[in-house]
Parts: sequence; structure tokens; C-alpha cells
Amino acid sequence: MAKIKLEYIWLDGYTPLASLRSKTKIIDGDAAKLKLEGVPVWGFDGSSTQQAEGKSSDILLKPVALYPDATRKSAFLVMSETLLHTGAPHPSNSRATIADDPDTWFGFEQEYFFWQNGAPLGFPKEGFPAPQGPYYTGVGYRNVGPIARQLVEEHIDLCIAAGINIEGINAEVAKGQWEFQIFGKGSKTAADQMWVARYLMTRLCEPHGIDIEWRCKPVLGAFNAPLDWNGSGMHTNFSTKYLREVGGKEYFDKLMAAFAKHVDEHIAVYGPENHLRLTGLHETQSIDKFNYGLSDRGASVRMPVNFVKDGYKGYLEDRRPNSAADPYLVAGRIIKTIQTVTTK
Ligand code: ADP
Ligand code: MN
Ligand code: MN
Ligand code: MN
Repeated sequence: MAKIKLEYIWLDGYTPLASLRSKTKIIDGDAAKLKLEGVPVWGFDGSSTQQAEGKSSDILLKPVALYPDATRKSAFLVMSETLLHTGAPHPSNSRATIADDPDTWFGFEQEYFFWQNGAPLGFPKEGFPAPQGPYYTGVGYRNVGPIARQLVEEHIDLCIAAGINIEGINAEVAKGQWEFQIFGKGSKTAADQMWVARYLMTRLCEPHGIDIEWRCKPVLGAFNAPLDWNGSGMHTNFSTKYLREVGGKEYFDKLMAAFAKHVDEHIAVYGPENHLRLTGLHETQSIDKFNYGLSDRGASVRMPVNFVKDGYKGYLEDRRPNSAADPYLVAGRIIKTIQTVTTK
């Protein structure tokens, strides 16, 4: 009988930053014919992931999305929700609770640092490299350091093979910092892909002795000094069907009024330690302010350059979510706020 390798992936119960966990199950079957419905519910020991007490430790894994895994033969990645033995969602299962709508589309820009020996990849053993400037979209060893290019290229290919809508990559402003972009329709589809793309990148780096630092401000520094280093965001681009097809200033104003009204609820799920990053510097707005602007990278929400010219039509970029935020909660909150706005 042919064998299929299934790598179940889930989020653990650590706060404020859940980590990815995974384990492999081998089943009998034909990989060419496997569908999500044919992937069994599985389980794990929740007492080892901060998801259960030792006495009642079995947590169920409910498969919710299936992706081919190009790194192994006859293999798939199985994005999973965690359930209690009763079948109810585990309290840490953010996916189960969020609003969804397939007509609301998301594009996440995931920034992150390659991290090695306690510092960004390419930092010298002592002190700091040359100040920021040449690293963003940089080319050459002195700008991108060792191995990073190979890793981001391999990551693109793994995502494409998995059927994940990766839309691009670029070297970012700080040394050792990079970005990839993932697009999806609906909060769950988009965020499932984001988590699996994060998983693939993290796993890809293991044999190189490199970790991914997802935290939003891992290198602190004073403004304008050579020690001044950008933080990492997860800019969240979004569009509703109405915004894409009809648009208009009236709808846009209503949307932004709703966002202004729910600032606290948005910031609450836009990632831990965000006050370190949303300072008003480094192309960010302060965490306690909300504004929007055309082409303005210092605004909370940016309208792309042609948005107004096109009749307030297209998509918007919420620049506040950070690199460590849970994309389920970010996209779910955006849909919830959008749902308070009428198009009439
Ligand atoms: P920048 O770095 O200039 O902010 P990027 O090119 O990195 O922009 O990212 C733009 C993002 O916008 C991409 O992730 C893309 O998927 C997303 N996007 C484009 N059109 C839409 C749309 N209609 N709805 C939602 N997201 C969109
Ligand atoms: Mn970008
Ligand atoms: Mn960026
Ligand atoms: Mn952006």
C-alpha cells in the first residue's frame, strides 16, 4: 500500500505570541487522490504546549487546509484547528472565532529578521554594521549578507509548490530583514496561507543554524544614530467587493470612521510590543493616533497612489499590524469593523 506523509501544523497556547508546532502522521493512500475530507482528525499532548492540564491533556487537531509539501515525497502540510475533547474550539484557537467573508480580500506583507547567534543575520560579532540605507531591496554580499538570498528563493518555490499565493519578496530596510507577501480571499484562507508560509520559512532555516525573529522590534536604537534599526510590520492590505467594484468617497469615509471608532480593538490584536514599533518614526504612525493618507507611509491607513484618482476604488493598506501578529485575528477584526458599515 502506498504511504502518505501528513505534517499537521497548529498554534500552541503560549501568550502573547503563539508558536507553530507540527508532527507527522503516516497514512495509507494515494497522494494524487488525497483531499481535505480524507485527512483524519488527530491529536496531541496539550500539557506540553500550554494547552491543557496533565490530567486531561488530549487536544484534537481538526484539519482545515491541505497543501502539498515539496520537501518530502508523497507529503502534505495540514493546517489544523485545536479542539477540546468535547469538540469545542480550544480557547487558543483564534481561527474558530473570527468573522469571515470570501469577498473581503487580504494581502499581508510579512516582514521578519533572519536571526543567528543573538543578532540579525549579517551583523558583525561585535557592534553594528553600517547604518540603514543600502539594505532595502539591496544587492550584494555586503548588503544582504550570507545565504539569505538562497533561503528566500527556496521559500518562494516551496510556497508556489504548496499552492500558496505568494506575491513577491524583497530585502527590507534593516540588515538581515526581509519581507514576503501573501494574498488570499477571506480571512481564513488568507491567514491559513500566512501561517503555513511562516512555517515553511522557519523550517527551511533549521539546517543553517538560523531562526526567524518574528517580534516587531528586535533591534532597538535611538533615532538618527548608527544604532537606529527599523522594526517589522505585517501591513495588511484589504478590499471589499464594494470597494473594488464601486468605491466612492462616501463609502471610504464611512469605512475610516468605523476604523477610527474601533482603534483599541484593532490595536489589541495587531501584535505584541507594538508600542515599540508604532512610534511615529520609521514610516509608522504613533500607536495612540489614527489617520489615513494618500501614499502616506507615516499614516495608520495608506491609500495607494491611484486610489483617489480612481474614485476611491481599489484596496487600502492598514500599516499598524506587526510582524508577530496573528493574521487570523487581524483579518477577522478588519472584517468585523467593515461589517458595521453599510453601502447604502
Ligand atoms: P508596499 O510595500 O508598497 O506597501 P507590496 O507590494 O509589498 O506593497 O504589497 C501590496 C499588497 O497588496 C500585496 O500583498 C497584494 O497582495 C495586496 N493587494 C493588491 N490588491 C489587493 C486587493 N484588491 N485586495 C487586497 N489586497 C490587495
Ligand atoms: Mn511591501
Ligand atoms: Mn515592507
Ligand atoms: Mn506596505
